[in-house]
Amino acid sequence: MIKDNIEIVEQNIRKACGKAGRLRDEVTLIAVSKTKPVSMIEEVLKFGIIDFGENKVQELTSKFELLPPHLRWHLIGHLQTNKVKYIVDKTVLIHSVDSLKLATEINKEAKKKGIICDILIEVNIAREDSKYGVFEEDVLPLIQEISKLDNVRVKGLMTVAPFVEDPEDNRVHFRKLRQLNVDINSKNIDNVSMEILSMGMTGDYEIAIEEGSTLIRVGTGIFGERDYTI
Ligand SMILES: *Cc1c(COP(=O)(O)O)cnc(C)c1O
Repeated sequence: MIKDNIEIVEQNIRKACGKAGRLRDEVTLIAVSKTKPVSMIEEVLKFGIIDFGENKVQELTSKFELLPPHLRWHLIGHLQTNKVKYIVDKTVLIHSVDSLKLATEINKEAKKKGIICDILIEVNIAREDSKYGVFEEDVLPLIQEISKLDNVRVKGLMTVAPFVEDPEDNRVHFRKLRQLNVDINSKNIDNVSMEILSMGMTGDYEIAIEEGSTLIRVGTGIFGERDYTI
């Protein structure tokens, strides 16, 4: 099942890249493994995917311990400041930074460990009440503050688009996020290089790729439906 799912996702990625005149290499597929067992991650690894996304610190760290060290872990869910210390040296990228307070804590823990931590700013691009992330107009001021921190590096933006029936409805949001990324990059802020756009999930990754996504986060499309009751 996982094999077929990956083949389908891969075909869809190639199709969307082709449609947008982009190279397949410009898009990285993150397999979102939240709630899924280590055995399924091992299955996915066989197909050459090494980027995995988790939304909970505890789940990420326990899987980190059990799996080979070459895996690249992405924290994609909301992060509380008191949990930062457990993950700064276990992730390649924290996608969900939405406050100076959180960035400052990441900076502090990264400094302690002698590393630089790459982060994305999570943007609530559709201004939904239920979503984490900062509003569009608050992104630049936040990045200007974060850029003063020595041990974090802002690499781009992330968004969780609305849940929609027709993925076309999210195109406008993806386009807006891309434009925001371009605008901020053109400011040439020290310590900031807006190379990454983390957008697109199972329901809408093709549209996200057409609109410039560089990291897509696919859970259900690879692992099947999640069961939150176990
Ligand atoms: C769960 C999750 C995903 C993956 O969602 P699917 O619809 O299963 O692909 C992507 N991004 C974030 C932030 C998530 O929490």
